[in-house]
Amino acid sequence: MPQRAPSVLALILFGPPGSGKGTQANLLMERLGIPHISTGDMLRDHIEKGDAIGEQAATVMRTGSLVSDEMVNALVKQRLTEADCARGFILDGYPRTRQQAETLTRWLATDGVAQVVVHLVVDYNSIIKRLTGRRQCPQCGTLYNLSSRPPKAVGVCDLDGARLVIRNDDSEPVIRERLDAYDRQTRPLIEYFRETGMRLYQVDASGVTPRALLERICESINGQSGARGV
Ligand code: AMP
Repeated sequence: MPQRAPSVLALILFGPPGSGKGTQANLLMERLGIPHISTGDMLRDHIEKGDAIGEQAATVMRTGSLVSDEMVNALVKQRLTEADCARGFILDGYPRTRQQAETLTRWLATDGVAQVVVHLVVDYNSIIKRLTGRRQCPQCGTLYNLSSRPPKAVGVCDLDGARLVIRNDDSEPVIRERLDAYDRQTRPLIEYFRETGMRLYQVDASGVTPRALLERICESINGQSGARGV
């Protein structure tokens, strides 16, 4: 019998900032054994290194606007060529504009990859509460939340004892600008996903624990699409 080519899954986690994409991407990475690609994390790595990309990105990210399509497309294109992406990958925070979505579709079409979009639906008041309470470990990246997932000791990472930090763009005015950028440039992609006949699942992400949301995501993908191994 001829061998079937293994299916390659491009799982796009879609939703406003603070909808839980990063946390879900990490949980899905453990479950599926495919890498989590976060353009926000990639840009923050460049900022930390202080290189030219980082310098350019920092100025834009401080305001809550989006960095250029050209810059993020180049970062993602490079990342997707790495060996660990051969079986699939989880995209978190990309695509965020129509230009990015079209570029991604073009790359993936030539490689025959199945794109599946999971849209995490959350109301904006919960998002503001979540983001203003968010704290992150600068060493291992673990995310905490003062109301839903506080660290055991105030201000300190449970795993490595590092002092937790507030992301520069998690202040309320910047959060509002990020939500605005989402409304103007990113939310309309739902139409694009529909127009192009992509598999799109809307999952209610309000008021559930991260583990319960993970099960919700996996059930919706498995139940409605027949996707295997999720
Ligand atoms: P995130 O961690 O995904 O919330 O991203 C933080 C910030 O990085 C955003 O507010 C943007 O300024 C920038 N960023 C991340 N991903 C993208 C993207 N795909 N396109 C443009 N800007 C991005």
